[in-house]
Amino acid sequence: MLCPPPIAAPSSLWSARRAFLLAAGAGAMAPAIAQVDVGTSSTLRKLIPAETLERSAAQQYQQMMEQARSKRALAPDDFPQLQRLRAIAQRLIPHTKPWNERAGQWRWEVNLIGSKQINAFCMPGGKIAFYTGILDQLKLTDDEAAMIMGHEMAHALREHARERLAKTQATNIGLRLGSQLLGLGDLGNAAASLGGQLLTLQFSRSDESDADLVGLELAARAGYQPEASVSLWKKMGNATGNKQGGLAFLSTHPSGPARIEQLQANVPKVQKLYEAARKG
Ligand SMILES: [Zn+2]
Repeated sequence: MLCPPPIAAPSSLWSARRAFLLAAGAGAMAPAIAQVDVGTSSTLRKLIPAETLERSAAQQYQQMMEQARSKRALAPDDFPQLQRLRAIAQRLIPHTKPWNERAGQWRWEVNLIGSKQINAFCMPGGKIAFYTGILDQLKLTDDEAAMIMGHEMAHALREHARERLAKTQATNIGLRLGSQLLGLGDLGNAAASLGGQLLTLQFSRSDESDADLVGLELAARAGYQPEASVSLWKKMGNATGNKQGGLAFLSTHPSGPARIEQLQANVPKVQKLYEAARKG
């Protein structure tokens, strides 16, 4: 259920305009049921149609999985750690739709790549991958793995990539590519270029904090212990000194005291959801 925009008073231009802006942002607003306090996504992301981005992401994801398979680094369906991740996803997915209407139609996928890297992602459209390094080096419990998955799903649900890419297009390339993205030019090239950019995307700090909170709530609703978000980021913090793991994820996900404090402060807000999910 999405939060409806307030009804504009017809006499007020300001409120009519504001209602329009709110309606335009409705795709990634926080749902009315949300317990954590997060804002509305930027309307600038509309510069890139969601379908175009999801299609590019699916292509990029498939290529990455093919590459991993050709190096014998893609976990087979019966691999226990992969089965564990897919079971976690099955519990989280039913709680995603209130955060993004489109998620109801996403073809969610979860794969595990054999690599020492501490890394995990969820591309637009629900394409998830974990690297064995993040499970093994951090010795993640199911609750902690669910917090990472919830965090990554939240980036996709809240359309952070779409917003980042839209901002990049708007500032660097301008209207020419913008018109391509809107379907007036070579869509194939634009889609390929978007897919490539997904791999090097840097989220902002506010995206990160947004994903932490939305992920925390998703995981709590799925019956995963909220306190695990805190233990997870403490483990991440400790792993930062470990060069062997590859620092890609850790450098884009700094685990400082501010991050841990924010999660700690939000644990009580979702504790009842967790308890209700455990009872149900
Ligand atoms: Zn993140």
